[in-house]
Amino acid sequence: KVSSLEPREDHRICVCVRKRPLNQRETTMKDLDIITIPSDNVVMVHESKQKVDLTRYLENQTFCFDHAFDVTASNELVYQFTAQPLVESIFRKGMATCFAYGQTGSGKTHTMGGAFSGRDQDCSKGIYALVAQDVFLLLKTTAYEKLDLKVYGTFFEIYGGKVYDLLNWKKKLQVLEDGNQQIQVVGLQEQEVCSVEDVLNLVELGNSCRTSGQTSVNVHSSRSHAVFQIILKSGGKLHGKFSLVDLAGNERGADTAKANRKRQLEGAEINKSLLALKECIRALGQNKSHTPFRASKLTQVLRDSFIGQNSSTCMIATISPGMASCENTLNTLRYANRVK
Ligand code: ADP
Ligand code: MG
Repeated sequence: KVSSLEPREDHRICVCVRKRPLNQRETTMKDLDIITIPSDNVVMVHESKQKVDLTRYLENQTFCFDHAFDVTASNELVYQFTAQPLVESIFRKGMATCFAYGQTGSGKTHTMGGAFSGRDQDCSKGIYALVAQDVFLLLKTTAYEKLDLKVYGTFFEIYGGKVYDLLNWKKKLQVLEDGNQQIQVVGLQEQEVCSVEDVLNLVELGNSCRTSGQTSVNVHSSRSHAVFQIILKSGGKLHGKFSLVDLAGNERGADTAKANRKRQLEGAEINKSLLALKECIRALGQNKSHTPFRASKLTQVLRDSFIGQNSSTCMIATISPGMASCENTLNTLRYANRVK
């Protein structure tokens, strides 16, 4: 039903938190689960100064969001409350964006559906696929089929302030701003897609490109932002766009002393872009006339999603449940809290 996909006009920014279950490693380490979700929009962090049993909480911190998802929530449920309400806006010439934000290993890629291996993760159940599914459904409705829209996909990565095309062997691309402040990623592959399957093929192609030549998949992928876009065009012209962004891990290198120079530079670049992102989303939420999108490559390439009356954004902040991740989790929650 199309009407259920209507975004809330009064609310252009939706911020949600998703907690993942303790994993095998954390369970083996006897890490404690310090996160509770007492209601569907509240997250509590039970920060114990000592590693004692779960009944001895020394400090509690409470955060409220549009939604908070506990470990039992499926990708579909998360989708229903985050990206799904924005899908229809792109048929009405809107720009929609969905960010997954959080520390490495907290579930960003799991949520987005950008599986790195077709074997152990199913990318057909992630937000990329779910958005695609609704886009192709809406495309065939009487309200929109007369627009004669074509659907395209792009998939690129931003690493160290540079843009790499994941649909074209990681070709390094230039970002240019023309006289009208329009931002262009020169030569970015836009592949036409006609079905959810086509979209999944692009995701898979991009993922294989993302990981190629890397000894450790996770080390690399956690240091870059991955942007997957579904673009609607009418008569060759941009009609609407949905950007799905799997952000670089927000963790501060706890082991900065150990980190080499390259890691430190990466970290600084990531910090800069996540700060810029926060400011741009806040500007959008407050209807400010000035959006500081030039402060990073990430915000620059997403410029048209931050500017204009018809832009809406959602953020899924993913958190790890363990005590060992407490600092990162609090940082994630504070950031998400500032954005909303
Ligand atoms: P990130 O992209 O944030 O670094 P991943 O999405 O790769 O993290 O998740 C790390 C691991 O945790 C993966 O093996 C993933 O399958 C698992 N995981 C993440 N979120 C969930 C969840 N909500 N439920 C079950 N497993 C999850
Ligand atoms: Mg990831």
